[in-house]
Amino acid sequence: MEIEKPTTMMCTLLAMEQTNFCYRVCSVCERTLPDNPTSLCNFCNLNSSKQSHSSPSKRLFRILMSVASDTRVFTVICFDRAAKVLFGCSADEFFDFAKLHPFTAATANRILEGEMIKVTLSRPKNGNAEHLRVSQVFPLRSGFQPAIQTLKEFYGVRTGS
Ligand SMILES: [Zn+2]
Repeated sequence: MEIEKPTTMMCTLLAMEQTNFCYRVCSVCERTLPDNPTSLCNFCNLNSSKQSHSSPSKRLFRILMSVASDTRVFTVICFDRAAKVLFGCSADEFFDFAKLHPFTAATANRILEGEMIKVTLSRPKNGNAEHLRVSQVFPLRSGFQPAIQTLKEFYGVRTGS
């Protein structure tokens, strides 16, 4: 789909990518890191002598989603800020939850499937990028709750103290 400027529209969420939903970045400078969990940020290692951060990397959401407008179905890419609205947690928390609970991503997909959302789509700054990106997302259903909440209920995880 082609858009010239950021466009807001109503969509139905059809499906999301389940195997590759996040990426690692340096927790200091947020540069993207390789998937290898032991790799560290070359930039920060070279430029800072003190290691004051407990974790050198963190995960951010990056999820391909298939959505339907009233006229067509298309694929968008949803980055961390927008994805957190749907998931209700950080990518690290979701990743850790998924490690302990099999099929978390598939279940999250089922939870969010069919959800009506208002999205603001923008053309990526990188003109070669394949998909429109979701710059804002707003769930429309009044009873909407973020996926992590439903997941915790589903898997019987107690929240809070
Ligand atoms: Zn860094």
